[in-house]
Amino acid sequence: MDETLLNDAFQELHSAQRVLVISHIRPDGDAVGSLLGLGLSLQALNKEVQLVLSDGIPVIFRHLPGSEQVQKQANGEFDMIVVVDCSDMKRTGDALINQPLPDINLDHHPTNTDFGKYNLVDSNAVATAEMLSEYLPRFGFPITTKVANALLFGMITDTLGFRTFNMTPKALELSARLMEAGGDLPGLYQRGLLNRTYEAARYWGVGLSNLEREGRIIWASLSMEDRRTVKYPGRDDADLISFLSTIEDTDVAIMFVEQGNGNVKVSWRSQPAYDVSQVAMHFDGGGHAAAAGASVKGDLKEIQDNVIAQTKTMLSLM
Ligand code: 5GP
Ligand code: MN
Repeated sequence: MDETLLNDAFQELHSAQRVLVISHIRPDGDAVGSLLGLGLSLQALNKEVQLVLSDGIPVIFRHLPGSEQVQKQANGEFDMIVVVDCSDMKRTGDALINQPLPDINLDHHPTNTDFGKYNLVDSNAVATAEMLSEYLPRFGFPITTKVANALLFGMITDTLGFRTFNMTPKALELSARLMEAGGDLPGLYQRGLLNRTYEAARYWGVGLSNLEREGRIIWASLSMEDRRTVKYPGRDDADLISFLSTIEDTDVAIMFVEQGNGNVKVSWRSQPAYDVSQVAMHFDGGGHAAAAGASVKGDLKEIQDNVIAQTKTMLSLM
């Protein structure tokens, strides 16, 4: 990270009074944790802050402090716009319509397109929340109990409980600081990674019943019909992909979820020797070497065949 750039960005943030903070569509724990962590820290300095997620705040994140403040659209004018955990502008959805280009682009995705005035991108960080838990105290932004809980949630969820291959001693140390500041590790772990609804468990059942394997690739799909059958309310995979990635003797796991707007959400997970972000980028998506995603337009079955073929070819997994 360029220290001058980092300094300049956070000095400007200190001077700003009206701040807009935004994260990505289909928000995950790091998107929400980073959004709330930064937003609440700015509010603790009496700044006027708007927190925006184009898709709104999913029910599963409503236990987090500050989640009730999240709105779907920004209203008014701002001194500064900060985008967290978004690898490109498309990931902000409709949140930046009628707003100028972002000032700070703070993210940990290697596929980041440097779309801001200050591009603070660290692909060695396990989560965007890790970057914030380092920078906020360093530049005089408070880590209150609420901020600590939001950021720790981002770290726990993006590392699946500190067990992904990109884990570092630094991430553990910063998490320890967040615990000291009041972060409830067991509670956040429970709510972020373990708790599941009955409907989600049945949805997993449907996905697992069509699980397929060819060589060292494994995949499953979930349709809108599947969601109706089990009354699962979301449009995601209820994190079934994390379970698929634990199945032995596979290098790559892929999940296909029909979206209902003509799109299919594709998620890839891989073992360390493979970089699935490259395959995701081929389909106009992005992510990390070991975890990537894309939204692909078309029919579920056709996309499935195409994505599996491309994944095999690009990763030489024949
Ligand atoms: P997931 O498969 O859990 O949605 O996402 C895995 C990783 O890929 C996350 O880091 C997420 O931010 C990224 N990702 C997922 N979908 C997209 C997408 O459509 N575009 C981009 N650029 N990244 C994505
Ligand atoms: Mn994210």
